[in-house]
Amino acid sequence: MAFETIQDQQEIARRLRDSLTSGRLPHAWLFVGSAGTGRLAMARELARTLLCSSRERPDSWCGLCADCRLFAKGNHPDYLEAGVPEGRQVLPIGSVRELQKAAALKPVRGNRRAFVIRDADRMNLEAANCFLKTLEEPPGSCVFVLIASSLRPIPETITSRCRVVRFVNVAADVLEGRLETEGLDPEDAHWLARRAWGSPGLAQQLRQARLQEFNRELVDRLSRLSLQDNFALSDWFATQASEGSASAADTRLALQDLLECAALYYRDLALAAAAGSAECSLCNSAARGSIGQLATRAPADDFLDRAQLVLEAIERVGANANSRLTLDWLFTRLARAAGPST
Ligand SMILES: [Zn+2]
Repeated sequence: MAFETIQDQQEIARRLRDSLTSGRLPHAWLFVGSAGTGRLAMARELARTLLCSSRERPDSWCGLCADCRLFAKGNHPDYLEAGVPEGRQVLPIGSVRELQKAAALKPVRGNRRAFVIRDADRMNLEAANCFLKTLEEPPGSCVFVLIASSLRPIPETITSRCRVVRFVNVAADVLEGRLETEGLDPEDAHWLARRAWGSPGLAQQLRQARLQEFNRELVDRLSRLSLQDNFALSDWFATQASEGSASAADTRLALQDLLECAALYYRDLALAAAAGSAECSLCNSAARGSIGQLATRAPADDFLDRAQLVLEAIERVGANANSRLTLDWLFTRLARAAGPST
């Protein structure tokens, strides 16, 4: 068995199986796509298949041999996974060195070693250069799978040595249907599928964080935003972001998730303003009535400017600016833009 369980990526599964069967296996893969599209699950399936010692079928693992059992328990000595530790922003150079050291060793059990690097787009230059040395002279027994959300931060010297596989999101309507089947309220399913940009894994993560409930209140509060409410809104965001976050870094990530909901709301307003009606493809379809009304009060460009302010705030939070000041700045600007009547 291998790869079948990864929904939506069967074309990629077919390509991996072809490579495994043909024996023309690259020594480095780069799986790129949004979080939650099955990149890590696919990388683990590939590693497990490569390490399985029952070679009856080269494109699947057996689940019975000692290697498969060790892998399932997370104890396989020829498998190593590295990524950004919780609470950190970048992949530590130490993890890359450890991986480099392990790659130079002979396999403990069979004739292969497999390495998965979860956040290959979050290596700093020093770590990337260190890893490049291993990629330039790869030990024959090693297979690397790099996972990234974007190719842009990865040096070309690395990407050019990897076989790049792009993981696509599913259509929002398809994801919406699935979420509804799982029992989510239809309006919430509609919004969540779009908020997650069609990424099934991200949709589940956001659903667990009850983001759809937060968004309902957010849309209501933003539709009434005024200069009497800006600091209260800022307080509310700060409290919501810190709830359930274990560290300052987690709080920042949570805050960015919450702010993205506001960006989506202003995008909806811009769409409705441009279309001259709210009968267009809105993410917040449950708020069609109020969005339709508010959209008549300003041109689409004004709403896009407000969405831009939110994106700027998200960037500032990501760059370690003072979150509280950033929120105060944002909601004051948004309240001012909304004017006294909105
Ligand atoms: Zn096996």
